[in-house]
Amino acid sequence: DQARISLEQAPSEVKELAETVDGMLIRLSDSWGHQRELLSNVSHELRTPLTIISGYIQSILRRSDNLSEMQTEALKTAASEADRTVQLLQDLLDLARLDSDRMQFQLEPIILNDLLHEVVGMAKQYSARIITLDLKPDIIAIKADSHRLKQVLLNLIDNAVKYSEPATPITLKLNRENDRAIIQLCDRGVGIPLQQQGRIFERFFRVDESRNRAGGTGLGLSIVKTLVEGMAGNITVRSQLNEGSTFTLSFPAQ
Ligand code: ADP
Repeated sequence: DQARISLEQAPSEVKELAETVDGMLIRLSDSWGHQRELLSNVSHELRTPLTIISGYIQSILRRSDNLSEMQTEALKTAASEADRTVQLLQDLLDLARLDSDRMQFQLEPIILNDLLHEVVGMAKQYSARIITLDLKPDIIAIKADSHRLKQVLLNLIDNAVKYSEPATPITLKLNRENDRAIIQLCDRGVGIPLQQQGRIFERFFRVDESRNRAGGTGLGLSIVKTLVEGMAGNITVRSQLNEGSTFTLSFPAQ
């Protein structure tokens, strides 16, 4: 019943709310330096209602079989906007934590061969894309926070999927170079123009909005970079327009 009542008003209400939240976040991010604490609290407070809204919309979509095509489309748009805003809030929360050094890293020895297998398995759960693993037989270990490292790799995989055609390959490689462990994620996607490659790790930076078919916040890579550096690693990109991109992570090997 609740789902039916929401159905009457959901699309316009939810869209309006998502727009309001987006506007608030833009204003908040303008005064980033002074507002970390507030941002962190607001992110927390907004995430819960948005997640509930998204849940209601999903349940209406699942349970109602008498929706018109227009209603279904409107609800799907509202749901994806709500999800995008939840993701934005999660990203902002992570950045606020990283900025205030409240992000705790649980550093432990990690066998990368195992972790990469696990990450590819996790990626399978939310994308139909096949990620090919290219591992050498030798075991390579580093000291890192496994939860955060998975977050980094899933974020890079998510981008590779977003910015390439479904039929093109995505490869995750592991190598050792002297005393460094090298993880590379290669795609054959749209690539990044040379003059913008230096900026993609900046907060809110997105290469030319018009080519960004898939939604995003422009925060993912700035979080990735901060997390990698927080675990004594570094990240670089090599990319050619319309050919593809390779993101390289390097960590001290154990
Ligand atoms: P977004 O949420 O926009 O994906 P990110 O911080 O993850 O934000 O990435 C910043 C920008 O870098 C993206 O908007 C996109 O233009 C570009 N980018 C990131 N990864 C790739 C990739 N694998 N291929 C092409 N462009 C990419």
